Amino acid sequence: MSDTGGGHRASAEAIKAAFNEEFGDEYQVFVTDLWSDHTPWPFNQLPRSYNFLVKHGPLWKMTYYGTAPRLVHQSNFAATSTFIAREVAKGLMKYQPDIIISVHPLMQHVPLRVLRGKGLLKKIVFTTVVTDLSTCHPTWFHKLVTRCYCPTTEVAKRALKAGLQTSQIKVYGLPVRPNFVKPVRPKAELRRELGMEEDLPAVLLMGGGEGMGPIEATARALGDALYDENHGEPVGQILVICGRNKKLANKLLSINWKIPVQVKGFVTKMEECMGACDCIITKAGPGTIAEAMIRGLPIILNDYIAGQEVGNVPYVVENGCGKYSKSPKKIARIVADWFGPKANELKAMSENALKLAKPDSVFKIVHDLHELVRQRSLVPQLCTT
Ligand code: UDP
Repeated sequence: MSDTGGGHRASAEAIKAAFNEEFGDEYQVFVTDLWSDHTPWPFNQLPRSYNFLVKHGPLWKMTYYGTAPRLVHQSNFAATSTFIAREVAKGLMKYQPDIIISVHPLMQHVPLRVLRGKGLLKKIVFTTVVTDLSTCHPTWFHKLVTRCYCPTTEVAKRALKAGLQTSQIKVYGLPVRPNFVKPVRPKAELRRELGMEEDLPAVLLMGGGEGMGPIEATARALGDALYDENHGEPVGQILVICGRNKKLANKLLSINWKIPVQVKGFVTKMEECMGACDCIITKAGPGTIAEAMIRGLPIILNDYIAGQEVGNVPYVVENGCGKYSKSPKKIARIVADWFGPKANELKAMSENALKLAKPDSVFKIVHDLHELVRQRSLVPQLCTT
């Protein structure tokens, strides 16, 4: 994986946790950032470069679409390989893996090249777990993988188009941390623990692992829309998760709010934060969308990263799970309506989200992975008998 955004790590941790729950000590699972930990400078700066690029939309668009043609990215990877292959090989072999699971679009080509070079393609199972829901970069797909897990049929179609065989593809859903599958604790209890009001409807406001998008402006607009001037009281509350964006957290903490507002930095118990709320405002991150659906939270999308997140907007809106608007004022109006006259719409969208949710996808993925390892371990025995 690599920490480009929060979604890849979240999926990797989800798979690790599910292996642990399902198979205990049978597997040792190592989560490693191949680029940061096992490539030389400047390649190990990849997460930092990504964070810079996505904050500068046009630059990211150019990078994303410019590298989409196979000819371009294949020759890029071939050139990059000459500089990093040795380190990557050392990094991979350090773990003596039976199976390698890539949850990142930039982790197919070089590792597979290394395995092929060392004649290990038949010994080590290499799989990809795609963590984008709709539009996704072609580098996700490599014909030499044993398995490519696609979260949706839309992604599976893209995998087929990229030349993968049906037998290589499984569609189980996006892997979400197993804690999301456990029974939801009562809202009032969760709210109390998070320092929120027990009885006021709550909106969760966030922007991926990096706290991206117009979070401050949206919080301010909600502060106005969720305050009933006539009665001088709040009609709703906000839980803001700033992720790794400390500047944003400090700014929000310095504001005098008219309504209850809880500001958090990077939280590790996202399932509890979502369980405490009635709807969510977020950029179109696939991880957050999949988690919100499991919690039955109607979703207002306020932003998306060009390229990989474009398709997530129609995915949410056309499935009746939420709305899209870039305007903080309009978004605040939608939430105020949901907490007032349009409560039925909120309920219907919540039901639609639950219908689309795939809480057990991570368990299906690890069981299939286990089966692949089992089959691979039988091969030498079969050969000798
Ligand atoms: N996340 C988290 N704690 C935080 C903020 C985000 O665990 O404080 C998780 C969130 O639950 C989701 C992931 O980070 O699983 C964000 O992934 P997403 O695909 O939505 O966006 P990205 O950050 O990758 O652009």
